[in-house]
Amino acid sequence: MRRLAHLLETRQISSTEVVEHYLAEISKQEPVLNAFITVDAEGALAQARASDRRRREGQALSPWDGIPIAVKDNISTKGLKTTCASRFLANYVPLFDAEVVSRLKDVGLSIIGKTNLDEFAMGSSTEYSAYGVTCNPHDHERVSGGSSGGSAAAVAAGEVPWSLGTDTGGSIRQPASFCGVVGLKPTYGWVSRYGVVALAPSLDHVGPLARTVEDAALLFSLIAGPDPKDATSSDAREFSIPDWDESFVKGLKIGVPEEFFGEGISPEVEGAVRDCLNALEGWGAELVPISLATNEYAIDTYLTLVTAEASSSLARYDGVRYGVRIPAEDSNTMFARSRSAGFGAEVKRRIMLGTYVLSARQYGAYYEQAQKVRTLIRQDVLEAFKQVDVIITPTTPSTAFRIGAKQSPLEMYLSDLFTAMANLCGIPALNVPCGRDSRGLPLGMQIMGGHFQEELLFRVARLVENHVGVEGEVFSDKL
Ligand code: GLN
Repeated sequence: MRRLAHLLETRQISSTEVVEHYLAEISKQEPVLNAFITVDAEGALAQARASDRRRREGQALSPWDGIPIAVKDNISTKGLKTTCASRFLANYVPLFDAEVVSRLKDVGLSIIGKTNLDEFAMGSSTEYSAYGVTCNPHDHERVSGGSSGGSAAAVAAGEVPWSLGTDTGGSIRQPASFCGVVGLKPTYGWVSRYGVVALAPSLDHVGPLARTVEDAALLFSLIAGPDPKDATSSDAREFSIPDWDESFVKGLKIGVPEEFFGEGISPEVEGAVRDCLNALEGWGAELVPISLATNEYAIDTYLTLVTAEASSSLARYDGVRYGVRIPAEDSNTMFARSRSAGFGAEVKRRIMLGTYVLSARQYGAYYEQAQKVRTLIRQDVLEAFKQVDVIITPTTPSTAFRIGAKQSPLEMYLSDLFTAMANLCGIPALNVPCGRDSRGLPLGMQIMGGHFQEELLFRVARLVENHVGVEGEVFSDKL
């Protein structure tokens, strides 16, 4: 992004030209890719013209003024439809911007459109979107991952230089891995969720997706920081992009948890991650075999909590205040009809499961139990961070699967096998691409760190990126 910023600053290119370039890519690729639910060409061009005017007058809001971005369609954008990929909100236009969106606008970024996702961010492939699947730019018969599949695919395909996604159980990292881009789920509380439509508030996070580690770090620096409007916001400092000095790697302790390797994992995924681990060792890091035995319970715990919280978060869609309303003779029938018509099958499934685990008779057996196990998982992970600085694993057990390949919900839920743990603990975790498999599909590696250790994650990821090489930096061909 620095190159693009330099071109804009020295007026070798205008923001209007940049936005037109990406809009042209979008028109060319969208008929196949379907990464966007809404493209705001007019709005983005108006913002670009305003940026060009500011630059002419020497009033640029920041070095990034005039650069476009795409935002996942569960993040509120004032005056721009925010559907959550649900029929329920097909015509919902927010009256305000999410805090992350205001922050991007404050530094002059133009919002080019809203990206596709699984309905209300429930899923791992965008196949549960009411607006069609987003296919993988590397193989159109395969999924882009999910739920932030549109955000990952748009960046990977060069439809947009970077994007925002959300991650509740893996929804930034898994699509980033499938599409071959960098994606960060930050520390819980470091990025405001004000204006982000809730799936499960104790697990939801907003984070950046980009082509390079530096661009992801940069975008993170633009959105991170305290927000009094979000009660779960931590009072953590701002984040600034690190210098990329590499000496930190000498003596860095990298935890390699045995539970994340071996059986059930594609040998190509494992091979690529091990190759990067060896490279890091060669530069002076120490590989420490560790055990994270509680990961065995991560998916069950995650599913119990995510469905419980989702059933509560989605209670507000009752046909009265938002979205679809199917009139009826009495209000209960109206609620039931509106919800039946507005929600898709996966959302209904989760509402039913969540209502069940929260019901008076089952609460102790499921929800309460899951909270206890969550504490044990967290203790397990924090204990590990007493011994090691970062933990490295594959991001997903396999590369992108075929559209339609996972018919049972359970199979789909297993996509989060390696990612849900970080959400349960609130620790930061990122995906960095680490090569291609024999079919040419991207492979991804996950780096997890202690709370607020984002800088360290970016530093390690940058070394991995140097090792495997970056594919097509933004506007690299223009300089
Ligand atoms: N795939 C997970 C789920 O279906 C994660 C979703 C998410 O992170 N938003 O719940």
